[in-house]
Amino acid sequence: MTMLLDRSPGFGVYIHWPFCAAKCPYCDFNSHVRHQPVDQERFARAFETELATMRDRTGPREVTSIFLGGGTPSLMKPQTVATVLDAVAKNWTVPAGIEVTLEANPSSVEAERFRGYRAAGVNRVSLGVQALNDKDLRFLGRLHNVDEALHAIGLAREIFPRLSFDLIYARPGQTPEAWQAELERAIGHAADHLSLYQLTIEEGTPFHALHAARKFAIPDNDHAADLYALTQEITAAHGLPAYEISNHARSGAESRHNLTYWRYGEYVGVGPGAHGRFVENGRRVVTIAEKMPETWANLVDAKGHGITGGETLTRSEEADEFLLMGLRLAEGIDLSRYEAFSGRGLSTARLSVLQGEGLVAPIGNARLRATPAGMIVLDAVVADLAR
Ligand code: SF4
Repeated sequence: MTMLLDRSPGFGVYIHWPFCAAKCPYCDFNSHVRHQPVDQERFARAFETELATMRDRTGPREVTSIFLGGGTPSLMKPQTVATVLDAVAKNWTVPAGIEVTLEANPSSVEAERFRGYRAAGVNRVSLGVQALNDKDLRFLGRLHNVDEALHAIGLAREIFPRLSFDLIYARPGQTPEAWQAELERAIGHAADHLSLYQLTIEEGTPFHALHAARKFAIPDNDHAADLYALTQEITAAHGLPAYEISNHARSGAESRHNLTYWRYGEYVGVGPGAHGRFVENGRRVVTIAEKMPETWANLVDAKGHGITGGETLTRSEEADEFLLMGLRLAEGIDLSRYEAFSGRGLSTARLSVLQGEGLVAPIGNARLRATPAGMIVLDAVVADLAR
């Protein structure tokens, strides 16, 4: 299986396209709605400039994946995508056939544009389907309906070798039976990968205010945990087991780019609000870009980049992040890498307590994973291990 053959953490390039046609009421991503057409040529030039600045910082590297996320990257013109992908290839080595993903919304899918992305080098699409139920799509503030979602899925499967789509569950009033039927229908359309997220209420979003005013209720923790367990059962039974808390794939179809995050690899983040983490002068640095798109572009014009925040991580911060990311994965963590980051092994006393509670489990002598029960309380497990 591909995952086991290639466990290298990797070096990914993330590009953030920050614009959406409308803002979804649950969304806390860095996404902005503009009522005038976006000057895509200007943003393409700014991406080229910031990529070159990042190349100066990372030195020559071999890229293992590229991800165009957002926002809604399917609002980019194919030419904008081509310019950005060409700029990545000008700055680093990009082997033929590496995973190049673009996030798309069913409401902004057009066959011609999809073919243009494919010609530009995109070989995987991640579609924001979110629900196969029109009432819930309206509740989620989405601009598409189920028919449009299914049309987008069909088109993506025709044009791209790889397809993933997202669904949001644990929605208000969602019963296990309704979720099971919807998930099984989704699996019938899924190619090789599904991202299944629980609806969460994020501060600062319209849903936060509505939820606080009791305009709607989401499932309580027990009900949500039941829906999570059901999700694991159904996806595993259909050959799409979870390889990460919320991500499911057929063997070998895991997202290389996301594995880079969870395996604590390196990635460059380019564009408004993008984060990066890579090794510079022997230490892992974090970069955080200005969020407001036009301000970011002005900064890039003035300084060659829009980075306004970040830090150099200490060894112990690296070790904590490594644990937090790696224990999300079914493959768990390599204990010797933890030792290399932290300078010490995990406490055997704490490990045996957590093992006794059924929250973590060894994989042979060299790896440790969180159990399904441990995944649900992962932050607490990691806090305990990292003490
Ligand atoms: S389409 Fe995605 S990024 Fe844009 S507002 Fe909706 S959830 Fe946020």
